[in-house]
Order: sequence, then C-alpha cells, then structure tokens
Amino acid sequence: MKNQALWVYQRVTANKRKELMSNFRAAGKLPISILFYHRVADDQPNDWTISRRDFAMHLDWLQDRFEIVSLSEAQNRIIANRSDRPTVAITFDDGYADNSDFAIPELSRRQLPATYFVATDYVREGKPFPHDVAAGSPLAPNTIDQLREYQSMGIEIGAHTRSHPDLGKITEEQLLRDEIVGSIEDLSSWLDFSVRYFAFPYGMPNNTSQRAVDLLQSQGISGFCTAYGAYNWPSQNGFHLRRIHADPGLIRLQNWLTLDPRKLDEKYSLPFVEPQSCQQLAPVS
Ligand SMILES: [Zn+2]
Repeated sequence: MKNQALWVYQRVTANKRKELMSNFRAAGKLPISILFYHRVADDQPNDWTISRRDFAMHLDWLQDRFEIVSLSEAQNRIIANRSDRPTVAITFDDGYADNSDFAIPELSRRQLPATYFVATDYVREGKPFPHDVAAGSPLAPNTIDQLREYQSMGIEIGAHTRSHPDLGKITEEQLLRDEIVGSIEDLSSWLDFSVRYFAFPYGMPNNTSQRAVDLLQSQGISGFCTAYGAYNWPSQNGFHLRRIHADPGLIRLQNWLTLDPRKLDEKYSLPFVEPQSCQQLAPVS
C-alpha cells in the first residue's frame, strides 16, 4: 500500500485499533514487536538506510509509547503467559560502519538496548556487500574494533552468517555449518563472549530451512530472528523471533505498532517446525 493510502487506512481503522489495543492489554495478550534497521545515515539513501532525523523521530515516537527492551527481555515477555505492557525491541542487520556516526551513540545516549547482527566475512575483510556494490554504493562494513566499542556501549552483537547467503538455498551440510557456526565462532573469538542470537539473511520463510534451524539449536544459541513482518505473541516458544522492517518513513512503522487488524494472523507457513522453548534447549555439546 502506498504511504498516502496507508495513512487513510490507519485513519479509517483508528477506532478498531484502539479497541484491539485495549482488549489485548486487558487480556494480557499484547504483541511484542521486534524491529530491524540496517543503516542510519544522511548520504547514499536507499531502501535499507534511514536518515538521522527520521531515526531520532522513530525513537521519540517509540519511547513515548513503548518499553524498549533488549532481545532477551523481549523473549522473556514472549515466553510469559501475560503481556500487558507495550513492548518493542530494536535490532540492526548487516554491520555498516556508518552506524558509528549516529545510530549507536544515539541509542547509547538514550540508554536504549539493541541487538546488532553482522555478517563476519565483510567485517574480517573490510569489503562492501555485493548488493551495495551492484547498486553503486560500496558502503564500508564495521570493523572489529567498532563492534567491541558497541559492546562496551551496551549493544549485543549477534551472528548473521559469514557471507550473507540465502540459507534457504544451501543444502550442503558443510557449507551451512561454515556460514552459521563459522560466523558464531568468528564473533566469539573477536569479542570474547558467547553469541546468543542469530538473524537469517533476507529473513523471509523461504530464506530459512529446517536444517539451518536444527543447526542453530545444536549450537546452544538462545534464539534466531526472521524478517518477514509479524508480531510475536505471549505464550509463544520465544526461540523463533519474528521481526518487522522499520522502514525509512514512520508511517509503516506506526501502521504495524498501532496494531493493523489485517496483520494479526500470520499469513506464511514456515519450512521448519517451531523449536521448543529456548529455556528447554539442550546444553552446548
Ligand atoms: Zn542482512
């Protein structure tokens, strides 16, 4: 839907949204929304970049209406039986160096938690993503020192594979292991901590697979993120974390977070069985 049509739709459904919100709150069934961004910068705009001003505006809007919590606290609230506090968690994907200029310092200044997923080949080699090169914007990836700095500022680093492939297409076990386990090992050795979270590149259902999910579980991580646009609900297992793309503009985000009646039911079927609760994971072997 175009922004203008979306704005009209929000106005038309405003009463329905208010009613849903108060009913869900009273019943302890408010969704837990997890957002993902990529890059905050004023130059080289694209679909995965948001300007500094707009990012600050998002944070203002969110802080007025939601508790902004870490991914692990979001998980706690998903696993719990009741959710009556409007909750949002913030994540970033890929690992762009530009985020050092504004996004991370701004989150830190506001004392907001976030989880930051990086594809480790680009960090290690200091090379831009092929999709940015193809688009004529060879943007710099984060350095290991920057990731350490983010960590010291309260940002949790998560794994996003090594080379950012479509994991849904990888059937060879060794290749899958190299991308998933390899990226977790890279981060563990650079940052001296246990990686708890993983995000699937592209993150649509067909970019995931049962093999990849099984492998993630065998590594003893706490949860993984997809990105196809869905709410998380209380009493879900909390291992699979559904995320919503925080678009450069504010209107789509507002549409999601004020509860779009059309989006309450998940419209995708998943190519994997939902894993058990993250609290029932087998220990790392
Ligand atoms: Zn990505």
